[in-house]
Amino acid sequence: MIKIKLAKHAGFCFGVKRAVNLALKTAAENKTKKIATVGPIIHNPQVTQELAVKGIIDVAKPQKVRSGIVIVCSHGMHPLVLKKLQKKKVTIVDATCPFVRKIENIVRKLKKENYTIIITGDKEHPEVKAITGYAGKKVILIESIAAARKLPRSKKIGVVAQTTQSVEKYKLICRELKKKTEHLKIFNTICDATQKRQEEAVCLSREVEKMIVIGGYNSANTKRLAKLCQELGRPTRHIEQARDLDREFLRNTNSVAVLAGASTPDWIINDVIVRIKQTEES
Ligand code: SF4
Repeated sequence: MIKIKLAKHAGFCFGVKRAVNLALKTAAENKTKKIATVGPIIHNPQVTQELAVKGIIDVAKPQKVRSGIVIVCSHGMHPLVLKKLQKKKVTIVDATCPFVRKIENIVRKLKKENYTIIITGDKEHPEVKAITGYAGKKVILIESIAAARKLPRSKKIGVVAQTTQSVEKYKLICRELKKKTEHLKIFNTICDATQKRQEEAVCLSREVEKMIVIGGYNSANTKRLAKLCQELGRPTRHIEQARDLDREFLRNTNSVAVLAGASTPDWIINDVIVRIKQTEES
């Protein structure tokens, strides 16, 4: 019988739970109003589809909002976009994760103190775009250690990481930045949920033959987790839901670990476990 090890830290993190609950509460209390998000409230298509059924619609672009309620996503919002929305006749409900808000505040303070601000993260990710909006002009986004090496020297540098970055990579980037300034302020902004999931992936990879990582294909922390599992040398599948799991992957396998990103709901995790068990029976 295939041994299934489910990660302890699988499924909704604190910030995602908070955002989804806030969205559901807003929908329940405002049945007659239009409720929108600008971009997905969390990076899980199955959850955003469920929310759409309850009337919470991702309109993708702020120009499409004219009235009603806008829920700011867990990843935050660029301050200029927020300002434009505030000028319209809309009510803002803020579901920004407090860990993301903390980075926005750090960056704001660094800007006031005239630091060169380095943000390490994915340039296209909404969280990074939002944080950048608070950083002013002296901001540089980097995605790699190589990019850190190429940076010019600065008098003083403050560095933050996107909440879902790899802990190891961030350490290496900070090591490079130490060579670029006499005065470096490092902020550990990788959130607890991300760190715990990464630590668990390392432990589980020593105990099983294969790894399955569940979460949205658009979810940064899930993608990072799957990449980490691959780097740990275990055959890995990143799937969004049970039906994505191909049976071939589990052929002749004695043990498998199931991990899930911070925006994966429990019902999808349970479905995957059922499917693994069925795979064995078939
Ligand atoms: S992964 Fe971290 S930063 Fe993102 S929503 Fe969850 S707790 Fe917040």
